[in-house]
Amino acid sequence: MTTSTADWRARAAGLKFRNGLFIDGAFRDAAKGGRFDTVNPANAQVLTAVARGTADDIDAAVASARRAFNDGRWSGKSPAERKEVLLRLAALIRENIPELALLDTLDMGKPIGDSSTIDAPGSAHFFQWHAEAIDKLYDEIAPTGRGDLAMIRRVPLGVIGAVVPWNFPLDMATWKLAPALATGNSVVLKPAEQSPLSALMLAELASEAGLPDGVLNVVPGFGEDAGRALGLHPDVDALVFTGSTKVGKLFMTYSGQSNMKQVWPETGGKSPNLVFADADIEKAAEMAAFGILFNSGEVCSANSRLLVHRSVQEEFTERLIAATAAWPLGDPLDLATRMGPLVEKAHADRVAGYIDIGRSEARLAHGGERETRTGSDCYIQPTIFNNVPPDARIAREEVFGPLLAITPFDDEADAVRIANDSEYGLAASVWTKDLSRALSVSDRLHAGTVSVNTVDALSAMTPFGGMKQSGFGRDLSIHSFDKYSALKTVWVKY
Ligand code: NAD
Repeated sequence: MTTSTADWRARAAGLKFRNGLFIDGAFRDAAKGGRFDTVNPANAQVLTAVARGTADDIDAAVASARRAFNDGRWSGKSPAERKEVLLRLAALIRENIPELALLDTLDMGKPIGDSSTIDAPGSAHFFQWHAEAIDKLYDEIAPTGRGDLAMIRRVPLGVIGAVVPWNFPLDMATWKLAPALATGNSVVLKPAEQSPLSALMLAELASEAGLPDGVLNVVPGFGEDAGRALGLHPDVDALVFTGSTKVGKLFMTYSGQSNMKQVWPETGGKSPNLVFADADIEKAAEMAAFGILFNSGEVCSANSRLLVHRSVQEEFTERLIAATAAWPLGDPLDLATRMGPLVEKAHADRVAGYIDIGRSEARLAHGGERETRTGSDCYIQPTIFNNVPPDARIAREEVFGPLLAITPFDDEADAVRIANDSEYGLAASVWTKDLSRALSVSDRLHAGTVSVNTVDALSAMTPFGGMKQSGFGRDLSIHSFDKYSALKTVWVKY
């Protein structure tokens, strides 16, 4: 494994980019011949020009996926046979961690220290976990009594369309692909236009692992043409989406306008982190910094609202500001960097715009500057606003950057009321030494995951997803298979 910054830079310089569409087991150009540049946000340099898929390419990919599904080359394999292929894929991902990690780091700016120890190994782990689970699940027989045999079978849906964002390019694709493929479906994946490179390599590795041609197709392209075409396609059985709430709603509309395909949106968040007076303030402050600064705050479940008991607000804020020192901003290929640039200029403009809004709504307690480095102005400092009114825009709208809004509360009821006063319900954290309070507050919080005395608790074993406008459906865990399969009753009279 690469161990020094110099090694990572050398490897990055020699990196190979796959930049075609991956359809029917091979790379090809887009039908209309279009290409788009994918840019390294660390230095604003073009990495490569990627084939730009449009509706014609989505048609070709869906047709390929449908052929593969109908002839049973994958859907007809036993769960144990599918497991073997996906375990080989997990092993190949492990062998290629440096390259996969570099692709995400160069494409969207996350620190190599994270992509090589969290994202890429995580992808291998999630494939392995879902592969190992799939031949442990039993179907059911209904308790009809003699003379009737009513089998309740779990069957794959068919062709899955998957549309994913850029914040964890490899892992967001994996969270969809691992359960979709394990259950026997064929997939057309559209990665985000900001970060298509790791998904293309993943498709190549899946082929090498023995996934039959046509079962996994990857069509890079823009949301409004390739993404929309997939959402509207009459031969797609289910559309799984991770991204913004606005686009999640569009997919529900596309479904209604086309074939009523199932739509499973995993969308935005504005997750609250509740710090009570009896909390371990030092640990809470250290983890609050992680909760908003990890991946430069470009995390759907980022703890972007900090609700703190008024009696400890000052002490907590001081410790939190001190804790940001452990998050150096810089070149994502430098192993010392913990916060890289934001994904692209347009997004950095948007986050900087929220910092300006914040200056008019609350008191800037830390950071707030945008920095230009190596020709890119996508670097934004850890930014903390204090005494933010709960109705301020920076306390209500998803910023998706390193901007934290601190709001004091007076008692437990006040804390729960402010926490739940949001259109989102993805995640929440609670810091207290009082177990009864932890459980009672967890009961009342509207969130898909509540982390107690930690932030962003997550594993392959536990479902991840939201409530309210954070979407529905769950990624990860045994429950993720529900999205990719239908229950079929086969009733035999004897
Ligand atoms: P986005 O919604 O802009 O884009 C997501 C995907 O949708 C991309 O592939 C994009 O090309 C596609 N898309 C965009 N416009 C489209 C359209 N009109 N029709 C069809 N497809 C379209 O989101 P983003 O900026 O890439 O990612 C950030 C968002 O993702 C944040 O809101 C974040 O909270 C959310 N997110 C949610 C989760 C979760 O699990 N809930 C996880 C990660 C990110």
